[in-house]
Amino acid sequence: MQITSKLPKSEITIFTVMSALATKHKAINLGQGFPDFDCDEGLRNLVAKYLNDAKNQYCPMPGLFDLRKAISDKIQLTAGQSINPNEEICVTAGATQALFTAITAFVHPGEEVIILEPAYDSYIPSIQLAGGIPRGYQMVYPDYAIDWNEIENMVNEKTRMIIINTPHNPTGTILNKTDLEALENIVADKDIIVLSDEVYEHLIYDGATHQSVIRFPKLYQQSLAVFSFGKTFHSTGWKMGYAVGPKHLMDEFKNVHQWNVFCVNSFTQYALAEHLQTPANYTTLPAFFEQKRDFLTNSLKDTPLIPKLSQGTFFQLFNYAALSDMEDGEFAKYLTREIGVAAIPLTPFYSKPTGDKVIRLCFAKKEETLAVAAERLTKLG
Ligand code: PMP
Ligand code: GLN
Repeated sequence: MQITSKLPKSEITIFTVMSALATKHKAINLGQGFPDFDCDEGLRNLVAKYLNDAKNQYCPMPGLFDLRKAISDKIQLTAGQSINPNEEICVTAGATQALFTAITAFVHPGEEVIILEPAYDSYIPSIQLAGGIPRGYQMVYPDYAIDWNEIENMVNEKTRMIIINTPHNPTGTILNKTDLEALENIVADKDIIVLSDEVYEHLIYDGATHQSVIRFPKLYQQSLAVFSFGKTFHSTGWKMGYAVGPKHLMDEFKNVHQWNVFCVNSFTQYALAEHLQTPANYTTLPAFFEQKRDFLTNSLKDTPLIPKLSQGTFFQLFNYAALSDMEDGEFAKYLTREIGVAAIPLTPFYSKPTGDKVIRLCFAKKEETLAVAAERLTKLG
């Protein structure tokens, strides 16, 4: 049989490649972003409770009401905005599905989507499957700042969507209020949707405030924001997330969601709804992860690896130019094989290689894991 791939240039994701290499070489995996500690015991008990309490049939299509209500209460508390749980929230199978559903719902063949590179690796294939055309704006090491005038110049009559990500994977940068205001001005009165990837909303450091599109009432009317319980509650394997947007966009999002998955896993939704009743379960995250960031950075301070201090996410970039001329993919493999620490190169997040000598390390690990990784990395140079 002859099949024609819709993604002929697609390769196995760098996360899978590096995790497989880490397993093969018994390396400490600071590559793929996931914690090596378990999620909260109370949350696991809630999941078990609801699983054993016959909460095993379909939920309402946009998600369990109690969970949507708990999400809306969280938004009121953290962003001071009132979100209607019936109309503006849809629970999804992780942020990846939310991103895919949003792109599928709004991007028509031939329409353009502006992405900010380095960009999370699911954006381009999702845009291409919708027949859309990704247009990359390159953010430059070490600041990865965005010149919004250049973004404005990229906008034309075919532009349907702009995808932003704050806190940003892989760079660990965050957008500030003036960035969001500039974006609000660019899309004002245009048929452009802002897809805002905010999966690391609670992983933000040094006292900074997460600038969600939800905080900007005018911008919000043109936006869909996506979130991940995997990141917030150390449970990446559950693939639970949600999308938030104004009714006129959410109706169309749900129109696609119902044919995509209809609804997602039921008993986990009951458990998450209850776990969200305690705000400390997410408000303590910045301090928790900031300590890990500082531990890793301090442990490596006498090595030639130069950190770019992470402002958010659980990733920290390191420049290795003082150590090697290898390109980043090769260097990440060398570290995994020879030093016993797996890392993620940045090139797969770009459509055009930059030549930057920068790798990403994940610090969502137990302190003892970070300590052993740091000890191995200290051998460098
Ligand atoms: N967006 C970004 C920026 C990510 O880093 C990830 C990976 N967690 C996702 C989306 C996907 O999240 P999920 O695992 O909930 O699908
Ligand atoms: N978001 C995770 C990361 O950036 C990986 C998710 C995945 O493996 N698809 O490392």
